Amino acid sequence: LQQQLTQAQKMESVGRLAGGVAHDFNNMLGVILGHTDLALQHMEPDKPLYASLQAISKAARHSANLTKQLLAFARKQTVTPQVLDLNETVSGMLSMLRRLIGEDIELAWIPGETMGMVKIDPTQIDQILVNLCINARDAITSTGTITIKTGTAVLDKLYCSTHSGFVPGDYVLLVVNDNGCGMAQETKAQLFEPFFTTKEVGKGTGLGLATIYGIIKQNSGLIHVDSEPGQGTTFTIYLPKRTSTALPQKTSSTIAAEEQGDETVL
Ligand code: ADP
Repeated sequence: LQQQLTQAQKMESVGRLAGGVAHDFNNMLGVILGHTDLALQHMEPDKPLYASLQAISKAARHSANLTKQLLAFARKQTVTPQVLDLNETVSGMLSMLRRLIGEDIELAWIPGETMGMVKIDPTQIDQILVNLCINARDAITSTGTITIKTGTAVLDKLYCSTHSGFVPGDYVLLVVNDNGCGMAQETKAQLFEPFFTTKEVGKGTGLGLATIYGIIKQNSGLIHVDSEPGQGTTFTIYLPKRTSTALPQKTSSTIAAEEQGDETVL
C-alpha cells in the first residue's frame, strides 16, 4: 500500500508540475522551431552553421514531443468516458497500429467472445494501445509478433487474497504480448515510474507506462505485467465490466453526491 501511495503522490506532483510548465514551454518551443526553420530555409546547406541549426531544430522537435507526452500525462485533455465494446474499439485501431509498428513485425488480433462492455474514453484506449505497441516494437530487435487479445475474467476474493494488487470483480481484459527482449527484474520494478526509461536520449521519455498507469487508475482498472529476459512481455489490463449499454439512471441523491464531490475536489 505504501508503495502505491508513493507512486500516486509522485504521479500527482509530476502531473501538476508538467501541466503548469508544459503549455508555456510548448509556446516557447514553437518560437524556437519557427525561427530555426526560417533560418534553415534561407541558408545554403554548405554554410558552416547549417548543421548547427539542424541540430537545434532536431532537439526542439524532440522537446516538443516530450511536452506533448507531458501534457497527455498531466491529463489536461478533457476525458469523455463512454460505454463501449472493446472489440469494436480495438478493431478500429488496427490499421493505425500496423503502420506504427512497421512491416517487419506481425500484428495478430485475437478478439474474445461474449465480452460485455467497458466505460472509458476511446482516446484513452488509443493511448494505451499506442504506448504498449511502441514499447513492444522497440523490444523486438528484428522480426517478431505483437499479439493483441481481449477476454474476460472474474476475480474472486480468494484469488485476490493470494494475488497482491488484484481487486475482486468482473473484468474485461486487454492483453498486449510481444516476443521481444523481455525485461530484467530491476526494469520491472521501476516500470511505471514517471521518467523511467532504458531507451536512448531522444527515443524514450519514460512517460508511456506512467501515462497508462494513470489512465487505468482513473478508470478503476488494474494492470499486470509478465516478462522474462529473452522470453518477451505480456501486459494485461483489467477494466471493470459494465453489464449493459444503458447508463445507470441518476437519482437526485446521486446527483447531489456528485455535486458535493466536485466541491470537495475544488
Ligand atoms: P519509454 O518507452 O519512453 O522508455 P515507458 O514508460 O513506456 O517509457 O517504458 C519504460 C521502460 O520499460 C522502457 O524504457 C523499457 O525498458 C521497459 N519496457 C516497456 N515495455 C516493454 C516491453 N514490451 N518489452 C521490454 N521492455 C519494456
